[in-house]
Amino acid sequence: RELVSPDADGDDRAIEGALRPKRLEDFVGQRRVREQLSLVLRSAQRRGRTPDHVLMSGPPGLGKTTLAMIIAAELGASLRITSGPAIERSGDLAAVLSTLHEGEVLFLDEIHRMARPAEEMLYVAMEDFRVDVMVGKGPGATAIPLDIAPFTLVGATTRAGLLPPPLRDRFGFVAHMDFYHPEELETILNRSAGLLGVDLHPEAAREVAGRSRGTPRIANRLLRRVRDYAEVHGNGELSLEVAQAALQLYEVDQQGLDRLDRAVLYALLRRFRGGPVGLSTLAVSVGEESETVESVAEPFLVRSGFIARTPRGRVATPEAWSHMGLTPPPDAAF
Ligand code: ATP
Repeated sequence: RELVSPDADGDDRAIEGALRPKRLEDFVGQRRVREQLSLVLRSAQRRGRTPDHVLMSGPPGLGKTTLAMIIAAELGASLRITSGPAIERSGDLAAVLSTLHEGEVLFLDEIHRMARPAEEMLYVAMEDFRVDVMVGKGPGATAIPLDIAPFTLVGATTRAGLLPPPLRDRFGFVAHMDFYHPEELETILNRSAGLLGVDLHPEAAREVAGRSRGTPRIANRLLRRVRDYAEVHGNGELSLEVAQAALQLYEVDQQGLDRLDRAVLYALLRRFRGGPVGLSTLAVSVGEESETVESVAEPFLVRSGFIARTPRGRVATPEAWSHMGLTPPPDAAF
């Protein structure tokens, strides 16, 4: 998350909250997910039941948190937010689950990082709306079943494949979030500019959208940086020239690759002569966790056609060599 928004400060976070769409109809793009979700929510409401649990998977910044908030708003329910890393023991989860009110939506971000024993507790809670609270320790310990209020779990993960199948299977609906098209990002940028009260020229919107890595959070962040630039160096108008100058200052390249993306590509090309190389080796060479490289950088690099995944490892494509301005060796693997 840090890597995705290294320059986010408190003010930025407040603005980000203000820019969140509040209803499903204001959520731009991800049409299929929107339609499917709308059906799940409407049919549950018609039956007067809590909707099935929802799992959202996809790279960071695509609006999973925003969607969770929208789900609660559409249901007229309140939202409780927690995350996998915050649940270190099953007791942590029991404390959350046992205080839920009927119909509440529980958002569990980074659900794949929850402690294993808590996972088992979550299975039962999702299926039977019950938690087994352990009383005592050692051989005398007993499990006391405790009924909990029916709730809807909204889980988010950067990759659904990281979840154990028994957990994944307990979600009634899995939403796969994909990168946004530049035109969708343009719509989001124009909406945000309106909310921020800044004058964003259409060509500037297109330029920023094209360099936002298919990610709304990045688009909104770049918009704020272009606004800063326009205020300090210009007359406050967000023109194409201002946008280009600001993007150059912040080292966002033509394709929108950021520092991590370029570090990964550079290592793959220079250190490993274009591959094939295993993901963990690649991650070590850029000083990152495998999971970060795999769920943050790689999906976009693959989507942009710079990296191919092969059975023998990751391979750079000819586009990667030319984008980085390097010449592939004669024996390059592609
Ligand atoms: P993650 O998917 O990692 O949870 P996120 O859900 O935290 O990412 P958000 O914080 O929801 O991402 O979104 C980041 C910003 O992008 C928010 O300020 C929100 O306004 C905006 N945004 C995200 N998706 C959309 C969308 N589909 N339409 C309009 N704005 C969006």
